[in-house]
Amino acid sequence: MDLRIPDDGGAGSPDADIGLLRRFADSFQDRKRPMVGFPVNLDFDYRPLADFLSLHLNNVGSPDERSEYGMDTKPFEQAVVAFFTGLAGGIPEEVFGHIAHGGTEANLFAAYVARERFPDAVLYASAEAHYSIPKVARVLRLPHVVVDADADGAVDLAALDRELRSRPGTAAIVIATIGSTGRGAMDDIPGIRETASAAGVRELFVHSDAASGGPLAEFGQPPVPWAFPAGADSVSVSGHKIVGSPIPSSVVLARSADVEAVNQPDAAVGSDDNTISGSRDALSPVFLWYALRRTGRAGLARRVRHCLEVTGYATRKLAEAGRHPSRAPGGNVVLFDLPPEDVLHRWRLLKHEDRGHLVVMPHVTREHIDRLCADLA
Ligand SMILES: *Cc1c(COP(=O)(O)O)cnc(C)c1O
Repeated sequence: MDLRIPDDGGAGSPDADIGLLRRFADSFQDRKRPMVGFPVNLDFDYRPLADFLSLHLNNVGSPDERSEYGMDTKPFEQAVVAFFTGLAGGIPEEVFGHIAHGGTEANLFAAYVARERFPDAVLYASAEAHYSIPKVARVLRLPHVVVDADADGAVDLAALDRELRSRPGTAAIVIATIGSTGRGAMDDIPGIRETASAAGVRELFVHSDAASGGPLAEFGQPPVPWAFPAGADSVSVSGHKIVGSPIPSSVVLARSADVEAVNQPDAAVGSDDNTISGSRDALSPVFLWYALRRTGRAGLARRVRHCLEVTGYATRKLAEAGRHPSRAPGGNVVLFDLPPEDVLHRWRLLKHEDRGHLVVMPHVTREHIDRLCADLA
């Protein structure tokens, strides 16, 4: 493929270039089927929304205020935020939320809000936390303590207790991971609060990084406390993971009172500036709104049941196949004996600590698992 962009433009006819792009997209459609290694849902089609591709809409500034630009999808962003506020058990009048450009930006926003509240805080996160966390700590120049994880991959509360006690009188920002990337583990947020309180921590901010696990925690059997009622001060859930979207995105929620500290009134084209980005994606809110209007809370719950049911099935089948599967409670990740390279490649499986790493997202079915096990035989 010759993709060079010539100085004088005019390369290739529009038809030829559209043909090239179609073939490029089709090459992924074929591959879409056996993708069981990444935590993204592929079960969507937003093509009916193609009209939005001939407009420049921009959600610059606060989601709750029109900017002078005026062409935005903020009412849809607000509707999506309201849905996730409900899911996360937040009080609508007390929660500020927006759609960030992904889980990393969401974590950065949450840690920024936390640091403005407690400027001298130390940030704690488990060794299983997402790789964005050390980066966020560096960006914000927050001292970062890596806390050991337990055998399932959740934060070890005894280790957290030791770390907190070794810094008496210091404020703590704890990033709890709900659905770790490696093992699907869920940190115990009420346990984190109790541990901090017993260790004498007076100033505590807990962020729930529920990018991939929020819906699993909410609708799993039994449910796992993961959001505001469990003691989180902020919560993030990705749009391109269990919901599914062609564009990465993440909803991030925090208390309005805390977000006030980062707000620059009227700074963003006549709107309050209380997010990280300037210009903000106006398409993701429409996509997520469209998807969630169809699924709603009930549909999300069904999807989670499907994921957990197929995860259970995969665990049984991989055990029967002698591949020693392991799975964190409530999670949709199964680790098993490392398959040969060709199987890893064919199924787009990742390696985690020298084990094969299967993630059961909504597009993964029992049939995929049967075929994977057949390939392993
Ligand atoms: C996916 C994920 C993120 C990061 O999200 P990006 O959208 O890739 O930036 C953060 N935390 C967890 C737990 C994740 O699974």
